[in-house]
Amino acid sequence: MRHRIIFATANEGKMREVRLILADLGMEVISMKEAGASCDIEENGSTFAENAAIKAKAVWQHTKEIVLADDSGLVVDYLGGEPGIYSARYLGEDTPYEIKNQVIIDRLKDAKEEERTARFVSAIAAVLPDGTVLHTEGTVEGLIACAPAGTGGFGYDPIFYLPEYNMTSAQIPIEKKNEISHRGKALEAMKEKLKSLYREEDR
Ligand code: IMP
Repeated sequence: MRHRIIFATANEGKMREVRLILADLGMEVISMKEAGASCDIEENGSTFAENAAIKAKAVWQHTKEIVLADDSGLVVDYLGGEPGIYSARYLGEDTPYEIKNQVIIDRLKDAKEEERTARFVSAIAAVLPDGTVLHTEGTVEGLIACAPAGTGGFGYDPIFYLPEYNMTSAQIPIEKKNEISHRGKALEAMKEKLKSLYREEDR
């Protein structure tokens, strides 16, 4: 039996990345909106992994198909891990990222370079048609830039500086971002789990 994957996000930036990363799995990847399963999900977990499972299970209740969800965010060491699991809600869900990014830069104005360490974290949860839940996680290390740069990506990408590339995450091409990113790594690991569970003719 052929399966498709529903990815539980309303974020178009994430969907673009996810479709590219999962392309070689050979399964159709659709958003929850395309699956007609748009539901309001309260992310009340205390870890990225818990929140990812909450989102995936909420959509799975409607579809009973393979549902994947990611919960991700930016962890800034100088801010004691903020915004962390509250990354999307930081300073208000509808506050433009130009403002959120500038506030983080301002809060780090006295931080020395070695104190500017940060990471993006992505937890992926998959719920299979029988209700089994699988988890993977990925991280990418970087520094908070002194000024935003770049127009690619989304969210906090313009202030996340990748020293080895001398670019922010918003300046790096999407294919490269997918290779090195938190979500790229977590999704690759999930892809391997799905490949081992579903034979090629069932994908
Ligand atoms: P979620 O959609 O509830 O998982 O919230 C994740 C939030 O973390 C997003 O809204 C962004 O603010 C931030 N975030 C996660 N991944 C990235 C990324 O790859 N680039 C920039 N911001 C990200």
